[in-house]
Amino acid sequence: MDRLLNIWYVSSQRLCNFRCTYCVSTGDYAKSDTSDWKHERDRDDVGTVVRWMAAQPYPVGVRLATLGEPFASRDFLTQAAWLTQQPRVRFVELLTNGSLLKRRLPVLAETADLSRLTLWITHHHTEIPTARFIENALFARDTYGCFVVVNALLFPDNAEQVSELRRAAHDAGLRFNLDLGYTPGTPNGEFERTEQMAPLLGTGTSAGMAGALSHGANRELLELNVTALGPIKGLPCQAGHDYLYIGINGDVYPCSRYYVLQQDRIGNALDPDFRLELRDDRWAGCKADSGCCNKEDFLNLRARSREERSAVPSLGWLD
Ligand code: SF4
Ligand code: SF4
Repeated sequence: MDRLLNIWYVSSQRLCNFRCTYCVSTGDYAKSDTSDWKHERDRDDVGTVVRWMAAQPYPVGVRLATLGEPFASRDFLTQAAWLTQQPRVRFVELLTNGSLLKRRLPVLAETADLSRLTLWITHHHTEIPTARFIENALFARDTYGCFVVVNALLFPDNAEQVSELRRAAHDAGLRFNLDLGYTPGTPNGEFERTEQMAPLLGTGTSAGMAGALSHGANRELLELNVTALGPIKGLPCQAGHDYLYIGINGDVYPCSRYYVLQQDRIGNALDPDFRLELRDDRWAGCKADSGCCNKEDFLNLRARSREERSAVPSLGWLD
């Protein structure tokens, strides 16, 4: 198989230097103000999963996520740096709040191939001024050649700050993405109704979508997002064919929604005897009723084939 295998791995790194009120890292997946790891073994397990991904006999693109802030963790960055240097790894995408880039990127550059690093940089306006945020994003792009996406989360009460960020990104020539902000607990399946999961849609889906579009959301992505939150059973999806999700315990599933539902577990990346078998057929009908809320997942529902965007080193960006 020479097609790209995309993997979204949510690792157990927890330390974060921000305190966003809407943080979705809650409960068993809670971020921490004080420590990287909840259990002693967590750091080693992340290393094992990272090596498992690099050892697959396919070209791989990895969104290497954390429960906290990746640039707050030297341990985590060591693993990310190693992964960028592996021969079959096309890109390593980190999701960051952008605050530590100027301090940590120069250190990371000593061991990582930063030309393979994608930074998905989400702005949290209560925690960092827009000007400093943009300056840091430009530093990553212009000094180190990273593929950079500036991301905003739209809630009912932050349209003004999102507009400011969008203008600043546009002026700086930075890619800008707008996602719906979610209620904490949504990714873990605690909510069922669309308006509960995405507060912006609470006053009506059409009005909420119109608001998101007026603030810069990509129409195709937004429509897919809303579709995926609602009834999806039977819709053709390529998750499990050339896309996988790995949870913090190493379990491998076709997507994160199946992980929550414990549906069609493929194996565990921490198991030394585990050999990955991907589904041959590209499309399979979705077995979930609803609640496919993560973009990494629902982009697999797209009618447009993944090959058309395989040149983009990101699991979230649409060119
Ligand atoms: S930066 Fe991210 S992980 Fe940290 S508190 Fe904010 S939303 Fe949570
Ligand atoms: S539609 Fe979503 S929940 Fe269903 S298989 Fe695809 S990624 Fe998974």
